[in-house]
Amino acid sequence: MMSKQADSLTSDPAAAAASLAEAVRTPLTSALPMPTSSDIRGRARTKIVATVGPACSEPEMLKKLALAGVDVFRLNMAHGDTERQQQNVDTIRKISEELDQPIAILVDLAGPKFRLGEVAGDPLFCEHGAEFFFVAGDQPGAPNEFTCSYKPLVKELQVGNHVMLADGTVSMEVVEKTPGRARMRVVQQGTIRSRQGINLPDVKLSAPAISMTDHQHAEWAAKAGVDFVSLSFVRKPDEVHALRDILQSNGSEALVIAKIEKREALDRLDQIVAAADGVMVARGDLGVEIDVAEMPVEQKRIITTCHRHEKPVIIATQMLDSMHDALRPKRSEVTDVANAILDGGDACMLSGETAIGNYPLETVKMMNRIALATERSMADRPPRDADAVPVGKRLHDVTRAVVRGAGAMAHTLRAKLVVAASFSGRTAMALSQHRSFVPTIGVSTNEQTLRKMCLYWGVTPLRGAPAFDTQALIRFMDAWAIEQGFATKGDRVVIVGGSHLAAGPEGSKEMTGGVHDIVIVHEVEGA
Ligand code: PGA
Ligand code: MN
Repeated sequence: MMSKQADSLTSDPAAAAASLAEAVRTPLTSALPMPTSSDIRGRARTKIVATVGPACSEPEMLKKLALAGVDVFRLNMAHGDTERQQQNVDTIRKISEELDQPIAILVDLAGPKFRLGEVAGDPLFCEHGAEFFFVAGDQPGAPNEFTCSYKPLVKELQVGNHVMLADGTVSMEVVEKTPGRARMRVVQQGTIRSRQGINLPDVKLSAPAISMTDHQHAEWAAKAGVDFVSLSFVRKPDEVHALRDILQSNGSEALVIAKIEKREALDRLDQIVAAADGVMVARGDLGVEIDVAEMPVEQKRIITTCHRHEKPVIIATQMLDSMHDALRPKRSEVTDVANAILDGGDACMLSGETAIGNYPLETVKMMNRIALATERSMADRPPRDADAVPVGKRLHDVTRAVVRGAGAMAHTLRAKLVVAASFSGRTAMALSQHRSFVPTIGVSTNEQTLRKMCLYWGVTPLRGAPAFDTQALIRFMDAWAIEQGFATKGDRVVIVGGSHLAAGPEGSKEMTGGVHDIVIVHEVEGA
């Protein structure tokens, strides 16, 4: 079942399968590096998120992307209505069945993103020193007047504020305010177009975090049963809680991803990461909202904060931007992807590259290749930071200790596989945070939990295992590992599970499925 995916990644499936199986089988002494550079499916341990758009929304292309390494598809709600996006959901779910492979869906809510109205003379060159006006209402009265989708903008702008247009390439400063008008002078010249996004880095906006439209989209996402919902332009932890409330009151257990793309979010990073289930470094807007020169260091700080909280982090935007219309990325882009992985990112995201680019498939393959090559250099690292004191409270401390112990045992015992049986998926997530290179299989009786594992670095979700009967699970994994060629008689497999004797903290929803308090080191029996 899994070998299908390994096949798709190379032109010679048989050779690839043989070399993969050979790599996994290589006998180990502690002097040798860990067995594989790729996970058990022959693809990178770093997860790939790909944005769906006209360039890839045909079922055939989505399928190719899934086979080439996409773990999570992102549906960007700033584009396409729920009807169109529902079609994408249906197609992705169908492909997941056809491939017998969990594939996750991330719905990305637009949040308080503002756009220009119609610009007279589009595309309009704004020359250094020239003056333009933001005016109230929908209709610009003159060619040098702009309107905005956010109605209170003119009222909330102050003299001295900066208005960034065209992805930060054009910048204007507010020089005067009169009722219903804000006069601006161009500080950095460039060309703007109708309906482009507006960034207001130094304006404290009263716009709600979750607009009516976002609310409707969140309700739709809950009903559609998607796995992750992200919120753009998060400013405070309450906004993350509010989104989770909407999802849960509509029957959804989707994980909430906070997109970090505002100074205000950086100022409250710890609390926001604590509130969210995962984080996205949304560099497209972040690089406009703060000085772009500070962005790389902030990216690293966000990643480190996520590590302390044991939460997954996605690095997004312009990762392989030049592959929009080229078959080879720039050196700097390849280095950017590699560094994001070396720094400890869980997932890398493609945006326009897959949504509207000319080479969506080639871009995903390239991302996978870079990840594999980078991971090879990391394979000798011991599991991450066993001494870190995690600040998150949601994982039971027994589970945390057991997971940590299991990771370390698998590493020292040179186990061929680690298996995490998990109802909520949190055990698999905690295991993933250790960055052990022992191939890690996540099993669950819950299909959505398996899909959540699609975002967890190094975890391969496997369907059909008897996750909550430890004895049956051992037998199942033995047979599976042998059948797939990942283990032979005598190889060690580490299994993390629960005795179901200990309950989680009272009233704690997260603990459904009980505490994980068992580590079994098993030697494969049979052939
Ligand atoms: P967006 O978010 O593509 O929805 O704007 C990502 C980013 O800002 O980088
Ligand atoms: Mn953004």
